[in-house]
Amino acid sequence: MQIRRFGEKEREDNGRFRAWLRRHSFVERRLKAITQDIEDKIDCTACANCCRVATTQVTDKDSEKLAKFLGAKLGDFLRDYTVETEDEGRILKRNENGCVFLEGNLCSVYEARPHTCELFPHLVKGTGSLLSRLWHMPDRAVYCPIVYNTLEAWKVETGYKK
Ligand code: SF4
Ligand code: SF4
Repeated sequence: MQIRRFGEKEREDNGRFRAWLRRHSFVERRLKAITQDIEDKIDCTACANCCRVATTQVTDKDSEKLAKFLGAKLGDFLRDYTVETEDEGRILKRNENGCVFLEGNLCSVYEARPHTCELFPHLVKGTGSLLSRLWHMPDRAVYCPIVYNTLEAWKVETGYKK
């Protein structure tokens, strides 16, 4: 996977960029516009790396929505499709392909997918400040072409020197 090679190569630099950005001013609206442009050009249905690689946290609201969508009782849904973890709380179960709801490259519960999936990769949309969300980005750039290309474009936009 080429994105993995690129992302690994830039991982350290992406960490430095994240720290650099905290100390410099930038126009958040402009950075988000750059990311939106990148998102518009990338076909997530040809990728689905996030659904394969990342774990997916589910809130109570997500679980209720998914259970309803699947026509299941909440308790049955929680038992069959989720697992409680120490680090991350309740997450969707996974199999050898990644998320339990991934079919090929597509999400089989797309209309009712968890809120975090709707916001992913948490660059244009997300909770908390843009800077606080950057914490995960060097790791995400290893598998997500949107994140990798965004960080590279932001480096150019902000005048960051490698
Ligand atoms: S890893 Fe990134 S580009 Fe790939 S499907 Fe997920 S959000 Fe889209
Ligand atoms: S619920 Fe759907 S969008 Fe979310 S990780 Fe699973 S397959 Fe991907």
